[in-house]
Amino acid sequence: MIAIHENKVLYVQSLFKIEIENQREKALTKLKKINKNQFNTAEKNYLRSVIRLFEKNSSIKIIECVPNTIETLIVSIGSIPPNSRFYKNGKPKKTLKKFILDALNYKYLRGTFYPIYFKELGIKSCVYCNSQLSITAVKSNGTYSAKFDVDHYYSRDKYPFLSISLFNLYPACASCNRVKSNNKIEFELYTLDSKKTTKSKYNFKMSSYSKSKYLTTRDAQEINFSFSEPTYNDPIAKKFNDVFHIESIYETQKDLIEELIIKSQIYNKSYLKSLNENFNKLSLHPELFKRLLVGNYTQDKDIHKRPMSKIVMDIAKQLNLIREE
Ligand SMILES: [Zn+2]
Repeated sequence: MIAIHENKVLYVQSLFKIEIENQREKALTKLKKINKNQFNTAEKNYLRSVIRLFEKNSSIKIIECVPNTIETLIVSIGSIPPNSRFYKNGKPKKTLKKFILDALNYKYLRGTFYPIYFKELGIKSCVYCNSQLSITAVKSNGTYSAKFDVDHYYSRDKYPFLSISLFNLYPACASCNRVKSNNKIEFELYTLDSKKTTKSKYNFKMSSYSKSKYLTTRDAQEINFSFSEPTYNDPIAKKFNDVFHIESIYETQKDLIEELIIKSQIYNKSYLKSLNENFNKLSLHPELFKRLLVGNYTQDKDIHKRPMSKIVMDIAKQLNLIREE
């Protein structure tokens, strides 16, 4: 629901230089072990170009390359050639795509590197719906383990060589990842435009009569809200609400708004003042005071740190529980 500045991402990547270099080296070793003779000419050439990208002396750092470079690779390397390997003894043969994906080992990184990398970047919740964590319990060999869920901006199916390129990874919950599939949306998580990283263009708004109606009836179902999104330049881009069903998801979370309405009634000026004074005695950051007050992060730049932060901060501002920055 908000973009992150590319420079911040590059800084976080610099903290993980050793891990990233290891990923590149391991991928290269495995890519080189793939027996080229089993493929047709187009596939062989494709594999050669992919191997070159992972070489130490490649001019492009394939794991760290910025969105602009990724776009040039989409043109120069292109999508995987049609599969030339079909059946052997009734069983499908392993495709070149699968060989490349296995060599890059994105699945392994989901349970190891991505949780710590994205935590450092400040992303724990789904960047599309902000209603769930981008972590799923996955069963493997009979046991469950937590795996980080990411959507690939350029799909793994078409561009397997970008499956571990960090700027191609958008943390998303399992549900959004599934419904997005091939739907075209206009949202770039990584940007050079500072305006897009300080203020989200997606907003929740409670209807004007909701507060009074709730206070009279004490029925959270009387609370209504809407979700607004920017106008998109791309005519075929679908709305977030249509793809991710934002309003239906949040319709089930009206108790969050209910709590904020009650807080806005209880926390009058003098109570807030005394709370603030006591809080100051602990020498904690004023932002933390606001967070405790509403029960979630309160600044747009922190949206991805916790599920439900966007709806909570928007409605809390509307109720004057916290001030607009
Ligand atoms: Zn989601």
